[in-house]
Amino acid sequence: MKFSDVIGQVHLKNRLIRSVQSNQIPHAQLFYGNEGVGTLPIAIAYARYLNCTNRRDEDSCGSCPSCIKYNKYAHPDLHFVFPIIKKKKSSGASDKETICDDYISEWREFLNRNVYFKLSSWLNHIRADNAQGTIYTAESDSILKKLNLKVYEAEYKIMIIWLPEKMQEECANKLLKILEEPYEKTIFLLVSEDPERVLGTIRSRSQSLHVPPIDPGSLATAIAAKYHLPEDEMASVVHLSNGSYIKAEEVLDNNVENEDFLDLFITIMRNCWTRNIRNMKAKGDYFASMGREWQKNFFSYSQHMIRENFVYRFHSKDINYMNTSESDFSAKFSTYVNERNVIELMEELESAAKHIEQNVNPKMIFLDLSMKIAVLLKK
Ligand SMILES: [Zn+2]
Repeated sequence: MKFSDVIGQVHLKNRLIRSVQSNQIPHAQLFYGNEGVGTLPIAIAYARYLNCTNRRDEDSCGSCPSCIKYNKYAHPDLHFVFPIIKKKKSSGASDKETICDDYISEWREFLNRNVYFKLSSWLNHIRADNAQGTIYTAESDSILKKLNLKVYEAEYKIMIIWLPEKMQEECANKLLKILEEPYEKTIFLLVSEDPERVLGTIRSRSQSLHVPPIDPGSLATAIAAKYHLPEDEMASVVHLSNGSYIKAEEVLDNNVENEDFLDLFITIMRNCWTRNIRNMKAKGDYFASMGREWQKNFFSYSQHMIRENFVYRFHSKDINYMNTSESDFSAKFSTYVNERNVIELMEELESAAKHIEQNVNPKMIFLDLSMKIAVLLKK
């Protein structure tokens, strides 16, 4: 993660680079901003720049021994603290508390894949199920121990604390002294998405740095590097994302799935209208080959389409929530959704979703539903 890998944030990057060049490096900084704007990527790029032995004017060199270790987030003078869950004690394990070091290989592997992520994705990665991520009190001893060691090979020893708002109060309290009187060449980078919930005494000991939403141009460039989108769709994704790269990816994921759903929805409605049993069966096989969550999502998507088509007939664009391809299809299809069948169509979709949950054979559910829709559309 170099500055050049951070999406947008040109102003902030320049400011950080200038501070290093003029040797005005605060010992504790709090980077804060909304999820997906790049607070963690910026902090990592800054740490890397600080420890690069061959700094360039605009970025770290990428090839010095320090940069090479940073490529894998495995530098002896770079430490990470992040929310975790307690590991279950296996027989024979010592009774020490779980700390971030117990998850460090998972963390590095995760960072290597993507540095723009949300807490829930990280927790999924470590199979937290529904547990909340926390920075436990035991972490403070580990932090102090690491900072007591001499600097191994870099100019600075850097401690990046991702989401200090998840820190247990006792842990935060134990860090106050070192934040106030830090060891020489020791730097704390706190990375928060909710600075209001960071202990006030910690906040007051750090220099705050706001990471703003990503500018639309940079966000569009980053999206275009990964996805091919027509211009108008790109504009709408950028608009919906509000400067968050994570949000942009979520919008795009939904779009991709919804395109599949729309295709299937259109095919089903055509088969039902023409009473094409052979095609209904073929689509039923396809439907049954998908996972249960997908099947349920498809039925809730279909409910959305029925509702929107019913509303479409009133010609009020402001209460209609469909994208262009959905609207194109609805121009004609909406004439078949009316007050005589809309409630029953919604109910049939609802009960089909319930049957999926009750493990009824999906082919049966699908065919049965298709027959009912075929009748209802002619009402
Ligand atoms: Zn370097």
